[in-house]
Amino acid sequence: MPPESVPPSRPATPARTPGELARETLKVLASRRIAPTPENYVQVYAEIAGNPAIAMPGRPVATDADPTDWSQVIRDLLRQLEVRHAAVSLAQKREGLERLLINFRRSPQLGEKLASMVKAWGEALPSAPGALVVDAVEAAVAPAGVASGAAPAVAPAPWQASPVFNGIAAMNPPPSGVILLPMVQDLAQTLRELLAGVFEREVAPRVSDYPKLAGTVSRLPSLVRAAATSADCAAIDTAIGHALREAELVQVEQRLIVEDSMALVRMLVANLAELVDDDRWVAGQVQMLERTVAQPPTSRTLADAQAQFRETAERQRALKQALREMKRTLKELIGVFVERVGEMAQSAVHYQGRIVGYTERVRVTDNVNALRDVLDDLMVDIRRMQVDATRSRDDVLGVGEQATRARAKVAELEAELARVSAALREDALTGALNRRGLDEAVEREASRAQRYRSTLSFAMIDLDNFKKLNDRLGHQAGDDALRHLVSVVRTMLRPSDTIGRYGGEEFVLLLPETPLADATVVIERLQRELTRQFFLHNNEKVLITFSAGVSRMQPGETGALALARADEAMYRAKRKGRNRVVLADGD
Ligand code: GH3
Ligand code: MG
Ligand code: MG
Repeated sequence: MPPESVPPSRPATPARTPGELARETLKVLASRRIAPTPENYVQVYAEIAGNPAIAMPGRPVATDADPTDWSQVIRDLLRQLEVRHAAVSLAQKREGLERLLINFRRSPQLGEKLASMVKAWGEALPSAPGALVVDAVEAAVAPAGVASGAAPAVAPAPWQASPVFNGIAAMNPPPSGVILLPMVQDLAQTLRELLAGVFEREVAPRVSDYPKLAGTVSRLPSLVRAAATSADCAAIDTAIGHALREAELVQVEQRLIVEDSMALVRMLVANLAELVDDDRWVAGQVQMLERTVAQPPTSRTLADAQAQFRETAERQRALKQALREMKRTLKELIGVFVERVGEMAQSAVHYQGRIVGYTERVRVTDNVNALRDVLDDLMVDIRRMQVDATRSRDDVLGVGEQATRARAKVAELEAELARVSAALREDALTGALNRRGLDEAVEREASRAQRYRSTLSFAMIDLDNFKKLNDRLGHQAGDDALRHLVSVVRTMLRPSDTIGRYGGEEFVLLLPETPLADATVVIERLQRELTRQFFLHNNEKVLITFSAGVSRMQPGETGALALARADEAMYRAKRKGRNRVVLADGD
């Protein structure tokens, strides 16, 4: 069905990207219920894009290339239609032609089949085994009265007069039509049942969620079982065509649903950082989700992302809660501390007032008894002051200690939280950056080097014969060897250098501000270092060697490309015999 044209009231939006145009095209196809064939897609796409120049309805599709010399085929067809053949009547030729045009009406094989049939008329020989079976099956599905006719010689069934049947008879004469017929009938019956069963048992349950498609499919088995003529076969063909078109529409709708859901998730993720008050906490998850939803989803990546997200989110939630509580405690403690200091100051003022009173009493009296009373009162006050001061001092010290402990706990929790966030970028086994962290570091360092026009070198390292090490000493030893390598590398790197695990036993070193010659020296020193700080497994010294490729990011080059050149150089190091460092091409 040719797609309707898009109303002119819907102007093309110049800002739309090819991706958006493609989505819009699929939506239009789905809404108009047009089969998403390549031709229809191209036409609707061109209309939406406002560029009818690309719309080429009727344009021959490359995959349908038809090598037929149609002028020759038509000439032969007309000639052989006119020629009278003993074995095949004009009516039979017409019927055969009709059937072929139905069966191959959209097939690139039409020309070839037509030519074969015309040739068979001329020679009265079967042109192709496929045609032979079609005719034989057709004979078998002919009405029972004819098919089981006991005396085909007296009243030959139409199929028996066909050139194809005659061809079989000539080449391989059956003992009698009576023996051939039941065999072909059985075959046809078996095929009918098989096809009907496929629709009933295999197709129907899979489409039950889509009522329209399910309705179309449910009509197919009875059509197949009742098929007796070529017209019935054509009807089945048409019904299957409908079902397929409906299935394609369902598929398009499903794809759109998935795409729309992913677009929604992308939007949510993009806004997530703004929704939370402190995006530091979620930065890790957001980045992970962004990466996941940027690619076409697979059930595997989605499940991984979900598990990782859930685990990290739970830990972060718990930590954040604890942190909040600790902060509250700390605040309360500081409040108490301030209160106590205030109390101390107040009691000092109180005693100061009393001492002023005593001074006054001493000044106005000469009576010894009165002076003794003053002295007694003073002693009582001094004792009370001492008790108060000691209590206040203890209180203050106690509160101060609690505050210090709480502050330390907060710092510890904050560090733990930062560690959990960082773990998203860290390889759990070796502590080197994982692939995500490495990709980020490459991007960051590359743009820094471009901004400041500084040098950035890359080294790709792959352990030699690591599989053998695993096989000989066990996987655990292999894991220990990887940890060992990273710890040796760490002893040699500058703080600005980075090591990341590229995959399995492959590591990348990022060396900012390092010319290529120096990078080579660093890697060669690492080789030597590994022979000194050897890996010890069950008291056995195990020598770890690696092959490395070294590259320097060229002006205008991306970090990823420079890394790919280092990778290629590493492979050359392997081919040259391993345990060596090779410079990348172009450096
Ligand atoms: P080549 O010198 O050509 O690099 O040989 P190779 O054996 O090192 O390389 P290959 O790629 O054939 O095998 C790599 C091995 O590294 C296979 C895999 O089992 C092992 N490997 C990858 N990741 C790990 C890991 O995390 N732990 C352990 N123990 N082994 C790992
Ligand atoms: Mg490898
Ligand atoms: Mg290796």
